[in-house]
Amino acid sequence: MPTSSSHPWTDLTRPISTGMPVVAGDPHVEISTALTLERDGAWVSHLRLGSHTGTHVDAPAHLVAGGRTVDRLDLAELCGPAVILGLESLAGSGRHAPLTADRLRPLIERFAPSGPETLPPRVLVHTGYAHNDPAHTGHPRTGHPHTGAHTGPDSAVGEHPYLTQDAARLLWDAGVRLLGIDTPSPDPSAPSEPPSEPPAGPPAGPPAGPQPAVNGLPVHRVFLGGDGILVENLTGLGSFRPVRTPIETDWTARITLGVYPLPLAGRDGAPARVVARPRGTDERTPPC
Ligand SMILES: [Zn+2]
Repeated sequence: MPTSSSHPWTDLTRPISTGMPVVAGDPHVEISTALTLERDGAWVSHLRLGSHTGTHVDAPAHLVAGGRTVDRLDLAELCGPAVILGLESLAGSGRHAPLTADRLRPLIERFAPSGPETLPPRVLVHTGYAHNDPAHTGHPRTGHPHTGAHTGPDSAVGEHPYLTQDAARLLWDAGVRLLGIDTPSPDPSAPSEPPSEPPAGPPAGPPAGPQPAVNGLPVHRVFLGGDGILVENLTGLGSFRPVRTPIETDWTARITLGVYPLPLAGRDGAPARVVARPRGTDERTPPC
């Protein structure tokens, strides 16, 4: 029988490309060529992007003054045993479906029958949002997420499933310190509005595009306020669904997780490469 260490790694990271969807108010993503092989003898790209582009990590400093910055997160926190909570059935409750503590509790009890404190300290929530929304494949946009209408090179993300504060608190109280999700945020995002084109010159005053929803970000506050870590915009979690499990049935998958954010010195967050592989209950080899 193959050991879990013989399983290949699965990449849970979105590709980063010009015009990919961003949360309203975040910088547009633009990747251009700075040097070329033909002209300069080497190919080098110029990147213009926000620290919360694509699959990325939120460090406590994202919301907490004086909080830990992304370069100060320890690999021992970012990598190790984790569990995926498969909740694709949320999609049946609509795009803006809330994941409540009552909805989460039976799944946690099934995974950790001896008590929620036996959950791994890292939990990834799979809502199926990334799979169902072609706007979030990580490739340049061709249409509005709701209407299919072309909205230009970039588009803000729209409504998506999210956790309620009591669901976040349930996980935090169980000892979870890293929460990942396949949506742009574990909190609700701003209403889907096409952003305006980037300004031609230096901005004068507040940005003209739609602004982030001011909803208090309760899930962010539970985790980042407690010096925990958030990972957003994951993809590929559905590949861990156990065989013969219908999409409407909630599931769990025990994994080994590796989250590798760029160590942007003294900054709030960073794009991250995220990988996972199935984990046996007897696996003891550290992943990092
Ligand atoms: Zn973020």
